[in-house]
Amino acid sequence: MECNRCDGDAIMHAAYSGAHLCESHFLESVEKRVRRRVRRDDLVSRAATPEEPLTWVIGLSGGKDSVVLTKILHDTFAEDPRIELVGLTIHEGIEGYRDESVDACVELAADLEIRHELVSYEEEFGIRMDDVVEDDPENMAACAYCGVFRRDLLERHADELEADLLLTGHNLDDEAQTALMNFLEGDVAQVAKHFDASLGPLSERSEQESFVPRAKPLRDVPEKEVALYAHLEDLPAHITECPHASEAYRGEIQQLLYRLEENHPGTRHSILSGYEELAGIAADRYGGDGEDSTDLRECAECGSTTTREVCRKCSLLESLA
Ligand code: SF4
Ligand SMILES: [Zn+2]
Ligand SMILES: [Zn+2]
Repeated sequence: MECNRCDGDAIMHAAYSGAHLCESHFLESVEKRVRRRVRRDDLVSRAATPEEPLTWVIGLSGGKDSVVLTKILHDTFAEDPRIELVGLTIHEGIEGYRDESVDACVELAADLEIRHELVSYEEEFGIRMDDVVEDDPENMAACAYCGVFRRDLLERHADELEADLLLTGHNLDDEAQTALMNFLEGDVAQVAKHFDASLGPLSERSEQESFVPRAKPLRDVPEKEVALYAHLEDLPAHITECPHASEAYRGEIQQLLYRLEENHPGTRHSILSGYEELAGIAADRYGGDGEDSTDLRECAECGSTTTREVCRKCSLLESLA
């Protein structure tokens, strides 16, 4: 099969768009989608200047998604003095898994000559995920602990690095899954939060002064295409799955979406675009100064922003102590 844009041989076919693309046109199409998302989400604020550049902290896990995001942002902004990239890697303390992906992060940051910071649960909280899974005082899935700790470290360190933006490598499959899960759980306040936290264009989100804004510029690219991009560009991505991966519900939704996508190509795109529009409407009502907005306060233990007396991270650490 021939590439739709040149005489080269197509190496991929996207059923949702009908496109057949050769290697170079495929790589270009992924890069274009990321750049278009950066523009549409207004990520480069007009106030940015070479004298006062923006600091963009990328949550760099060493998996294919964050590695591809870092590479494309680097290629896009390497010559642009208004943007400084920093890779931030979190070591959860998972034997034989995270060590290798940290190596991938170090290698990538060195190749691209970007600043790289590494922080660990062990140094910050005195815990390792391998031990948390053993203890399991709350009788929960590993990811339920891990997600809370990771979010805390990403936010806190992004703040310390004076980040203007915290970027993560969520792809189209990840975001369509989250959208569907939020729908099925019927939690409209959560949908509104999602918009203000990471989905809406920066200029349309309600102010959340205590958080570094987040962005997910890879969310128009399906997971398979991210993997193909990493492979073709020979990026140092780590592919093994975490041994504690346990989000059973997300796994069910993922299988459901695979089936739907196969029978109805384009389903992920339409779920996400409809969800984003609805999330914007929900955010008007629930977000920041909306009529049903939630009250935020400081955690009595660590001072981070929370809706409760003591934040979730501090109460989990307490039960693990
Ligand atoms: S899969 Fe779960 S336990 Fe493993 S690193 Fe990710 S969030 Fe943590
Ligand atoms: Zn081509
Ligand atoms: Zn706290």
